[in-house]
Amino acid sequence: MASLTCQRQMGATARPAAARRTPVLRVVAQAAPAAPAAPSHSVPASKLIDGKGIADTIRSEIATEVSAMKKQYGLTPGLAVVLVGARKDSETYVRSKKKACAEVGFDSFGTDLPADVSEEELLKVVAAYNADPRVHGILVQLPLPKHISEKRILDAISIEKDVDGFHPLNIGCLAMRGRDPLFVPCTPKGCIELLERMKVPIAGKKACVIGRSNIVGMPAALLLQRRDATVTMVHSKTPDAKKICAEADIVIAACGVAEMVTGDWIKPGAVVIDVGINAKDDATQKKGYRLVGDVEFEGAAAKASLITPVPGGVGPMTIAMLLQNTLESARRVAKGEKVHH
Ligand code: NAP
Repeated sequence: MASLTCQRQMGATARPAAARRTPVLRVVAQAAPAAPAAPSHSVPASKLIDGKGIADTIRSEIATEVSAMKKQYGLTPGLAVVLVGARKDSETYVRSKKKACAEVGFDSFGTDLPADVSEEELLKVVAAYNADPRVHGILVQLPLPKHISEKRILDAISIEKDVDGFHPLNIGCLAMRGRDPLFVPCTPKGCIELLERMKVPIAGKKACVIGRSNIVGMPAALLLQRRDATVTMVHSKTPDAKKICAEADIVIAACGVAEMVTGDWIKPGAVVIDVGINAKDDATQKKGYRLVGDVEFEGAAAKASLITPVPGGVGPMTIAMLLQNTLESARRVAKGEKVHH
């Protein structure tokens, strides 16, 4: 029997309060229609990293493995999503997760609770999913109403079902040599998957991660470091972040500032992964805005060898990685792998 190395530490269950809060714009991007719009830029296709296409390929790989798992083990991966209240953005996001589950052949479980549900009631729901062998991943959609402690609820999710990978034990294992996390956070995992599928060499390269959040920047830097890149993280207090970035072979931009990273931040030939999703006023659009990244696309693309567009780059990878994490969890159960606490 294989065994996994992530170990629980007594009392070390604190989880970042902002973890897994789904920004409205992320919801908009993930719920966007699949049909690709005609490109509004003049960047050649050979420079583009097609996140939408790669995410579709991953979803179809997952669907194939799910049918094999059903045949071989009689097991269907299951994802449970708990929604509290009736925020439109959260509802859209939950719907898109359930739809994605159905498309790859997962079972999806959902509990919708009223906004005034008590913390104790919500904890009971989480406990029931923790104990349910049909469920391999649990998400509690954030944000939660103010009277509920997010930390308490998220800490209650079993680490074996923490498919977001934000649990401190998973992040801790990600940071430590010789340890493997049970789950890697979906968005940074998607960034690395894009680099690997595009056969971008990482080992020995200089990488710059712009942003150090718990959900994107920090785990992205850890993932690059695990692949032997020499990583510099820059943040809002870094003097001359542009100069540091302009030396990097790989740039992951996750600062949440629309089009901050312009062409002069980019070394000629660098690979640019733009995580940002920001609304920019645009009177030509029906909605009055369009989505842009943290990178000024045309200027950066002129310097880069490869670049992700927004939308259609990192965004579609996040949900594909959520499915992949849930599949990994189910695979562990199917193969009887033991997780040591
Ligand atoms: P966040 O929690 O707001 O963190 C932003 C980070 O960027 C912080 O570390 C901040 O530094 C740093 N930063 C802010 N201004 C900066 C500047 N002028 N120069 C250098 N660094 C700066 O954001 P997040 O949750 O990581 O998200 C980042 C972006 O990714 C957002 O646009 C978000 O919408 C997007 N996102 C997309 C997906 C997806 O699925 N595609 C998923 C998650 C997030 P300090 O630490 O010093 O404050």
